[in-house]
Amino acid sequence: MTQKISQNITGYEVVKKETESAEGIVGSADELKKSNIIQMHESLARPDMLLGSTYKIKTPLSDHSLYITINDLLLNEGTDHEQRRPFEVFINSKNMDHFQWIVALTRIMSAVFRKGGDITFLVEELRSVFDPSGGYFKKGGRFMPSLVAEIGDVVESHLKMIGLIKTEEISEHKQKIMDEKRAQFEANKKASGAEESGSSTFPEGSKLCGKCSTKAMIKMDGCLTCLNCGDSKCS
Ligand SMILES: [Zn+2]
Repeated sequence: MTQKISQNITGYEVVKKETESAEGIVGSADELKKSNIIQMHESLARPDMLLGSTYKIKTPLSDHSLYITINDLLLNEGTDHEQRRPFEVFINSKNMDHFQWIVALTRIMSAVFRKGGDITFLVEELRSVFDPSGGYFKKGGRFMPSLVAEIGDVVESHLKMIGLIKTEEISEHKQKIMDEKRAQFEANKKASGAEESGSSTFPEGSKLCGKCSTKAMIKMDGCLTCLNCGDSKCS
């Protein structure tokens, strides 16, 4: 195509091949290969030193705590593509009852971490494991269906901490409604002469919320409202 240039030329640029990806956009695998962005991949060698976080979980199932260590790898440090990814997980406890399946679980989880791609599915997979002998309640009224689910919870909080899972924030407006409902509920309770709930996070007698598995649902004016996640149902 010919183009008539009627004005003075003030600058020029060499035409780039269209296959080159735009800066900042993570494209197909081919594009990534051309750039220097390092993605999580099982062939990545483990550095001699990794930084990790150790979480302690105490369950009513055992006298001994469980310690979960997740070590992270920092990819593309100092660039726009800097990303922290979990690399391996270890679980330790004085209680050796569950040792063999725990070792198996951590090895498989570490392998999934190192494969790369989306690993957040692990959280839901672990969380949906139910112990046939029944679960237990954590401090604050959260229901844990199994020890495996509790490990899933730890993985989730770690992935949130390193930014792989976005925290679902409750809007200011919703939080305001929840706070008002709670104040009203507690005032009603006081008026009826019930004892104060004391140190418990949520009012005494709160029902289990189906959405966030926390005993934080209160009933007022025919509506159930969860004071933890804000879920509500009106009958
Ligand atoms: Zn809830």
